[in-house]
Amino acid sequence: MPIIVQKYGGSSLATPAHIKQVAELIKQRLKTGVQLCIVVSAMGKNTNQLLALAHEISKNPIRRELDMLLSCGERASMALLAMALDGLGVPSMSLTGSQSGIITDSTHSGAQIIEVRPSRVQEGLDQGKVVIIAGFQGVSINKEITTLGRGGSDTTAVAMAAALGADACEIYSDVAGVYSADPRIIADPKHIEQLSYDHMLELASSGAKVLNAQAVQFAKLKNIEIKARKTGDERGETLILNEASAFAKPSPFAKATGDKLADTAISIAVQEQLFCFAYEKTESLANLLNALDQLDIKPSQIIGTNTGYCLVAPEDAHGLSKLVPPVGISQMPDCASVSLIGNNLGNDMRVLSLALARMQAMQVRVLGITSSNLRLYFLIEPAKVHELVRALYRENIQ
Ligand code: ADP
Ligand code: ASP
Ligand code: MG
Repeated sequence: MPIIVQKYGGSSLATPAHIKQVAELIKQRLKTGVQLCIVVSAMGKNTNQLLALAHEISKNPIRRELDMLLSCGERASMALLAMALDGLGVPSMSLTGSQSGIITDSTHSGAQIIEVRPSRVQEGLDQGKVVIIAGFQGVSINKEITTLGRGGSDTTAVAMAAALGADACEIYSDVAGVYSADPRIIADPKHIEQLSYDHMLELASSGAKVLNAQAVQFAKLKNIEIKARKTGDERGETLILNEASAFAKPSPFAKATGDKLADTAISIAVQEQLFCFAYEKTESLANLLNALDQLDIKPSQIIGTNTGYCLVAPEDAHGLSKLVPPVGISQMPDCASVSLIGNNLGNDMRVLSLALARMQAMQVRVLGITSSNLRLYFLIEPAKVHELVRALYRENIQ
């Protein structure tokens, strides 16, 4: 029987009614003759609530204890879903990340999966049960509970799909896959039917939370095709797959550009709150990297700015307030980023000129720029970020 891994995100499990709806969807899907391994996120905004609780108790919560706390969100979801399935007469079994064999490195709140030993999951499936896994968590080689970073349940799903040799990996959220922009910022963005791993990776690491960047990286490595869908509505989906397949099948993007790789943007992404550290000399950078390493914080990138360089911290870095900036390093005021993703964008100066002109007209201060083959990235002052996204969308994508 085919094995399908499905992941349901927080908004799909926000209330008991949502959980019962997911249980019903699972029951219906079983009728198609498949084995189901279900990865769950914490209910609604539960992870944020737990984080806020931690910060009420401590300004700098201990990272180990933060992982102990945050991992409870997904555990609550898995147990409740198992109860809902029981109510429908569907046999199931819930497992924590550690019970599912998700082995990670020992970085708290940003762990990387290093191995998956899915024997208990496979056993449960062989017994005819739906196996429900708490996403976003694992156990380190030192037997400590770890979490995978915000949005990490997607990674659990992809890693489990790879370990089980699953026939499909379906990620369910409140949107029917990936669009040309965040539907919360751009009304009626274009739906993207398929996207290569590399495009999706750029999008995810530029702030499009619809899929987690580590999950996409894992999928690329293991060649797992991701189907991103909306819970309870299977009419639209986005397939994330390798480049050859992405361009082999027709898609709205392919139709718009013909066979040629066009110098056009296909999507825009935004990060609204970034912490950046400015420096002028590379000698200071080594000290900063050391100081961040002591706090287990992995910087996301380095970019050239108007006054030198800056190092960008990951969006969900915990414990940054503990950092004592080394000599030659200063923390910048809050920053935001806007990224255009597409083919050959970094080589197409027309898009860059147009964007710079727009920012000048809107009096948006550009703090730094990077370009690569697939992405044009602007670090800016955050004041008018949504207005800017809408203007750039109109000019480059609409
Ligand atoms: P879940 O809780 O199910 O994991 P997320 O909130 O992590 O869901 O991801 C879904 C959200 O991603 C959507 O509600 C949407 O606001 C946001 N999003 C950002 N960029 C995009 C995009 N390009 N396409 C679709 N959704 C996007
Ligand atoms: N619950 C975690 C978060 O909010 C993980 C996830 O949703 O994937 O980040
Ligand atoms: Mg998510």
